[in-house]
Amino acid sequence: MTVKENLRVVNEKIEAACRRSGRRPEEITVLAVTKYVRPETAQEAVDSGILNLAENRREGLLAKQEAIRDDRVIWHLIGPLQSRKVKDVVGRIDYFHALDRLKIAREINKRMTEGKLKCFVELNLSGEESKHGLREDELDPFIDELRALEHIQVVGLMTMAPYTEDTALIRKVFRNLRLCRDRIRDRHLDDAPCTELSMGMSHDFPIAVEEGATFIRIGTALVGNELKGS
Ligand SMILES: *Cc1c(COP(=O)(O)O)cnc(C)c1O
Repeated sequence: MTVKENLRVVNEKIEAACRRSGRRPEEITVLAVTKYVRPETAQEAVDSGILNLAENRREGLLAKQEAIRDDRVIWHLIGPLQSRKVKDVVGRIDYFHALDRLKIAREINKRMTEGKLKCFVELNLSGEESKHGLREDELDPFIDELRALEHIQVVGLMTMAPYTEDTALIRKVFRNLRLCRDRIRDRHLDDAPCTELSMGMSHDFPIAVEEGATFIRIGTALVGNELKGS
């Protein structure tokens, strides 16, 4: 399957999920997660009209940016950052989806000279120890700490659902993220509008759309995973 064909299937599923939940497809931004594919395949995504590209590591991000020189592309970093790597990506990304440590936020703030970096605060709502992200009860204090950092804007919340066939459990995690988002959004903080929800991957994005996702992060189902394991 070509990326174009995959995109058609993904869009059909988004439209169906929107019909089921009374939403409009325009509310949802599809990110192509290119971490497991070659730059040529990422370019194919761009040529198919997907202008939001996501990588989970600095190295992958820099490699794709080297290969794809297109001003229209909006770059997303969706994986955790180490403190010493912050300086390499600040100024190169439009969105950071995995903010969960004050130390990293402070480093971003220090390295940014102007403007604001659009960040998602990552939550771990499934309690799996292997996952990054804050616990729910850590969210409000974290948001309060971030308010002192002028170059950080909390545009929304992000989570990863557990990898399971248990769709009720997946739905519960996404629904809970939406409730957390609503709570922060309703505080009407200037530096944390928190209107967005980054949730849903290849195996669970229709549920995420039904539960209110505004950014979905799709790798395998869209661009494949030709480099996985290599
Ligand atoms: C890899 C990755 C994705 C995409 O995964 P697929 O299952 O291939 O769609 C989404 N979000 C994050 C944070 C990832 O690391």
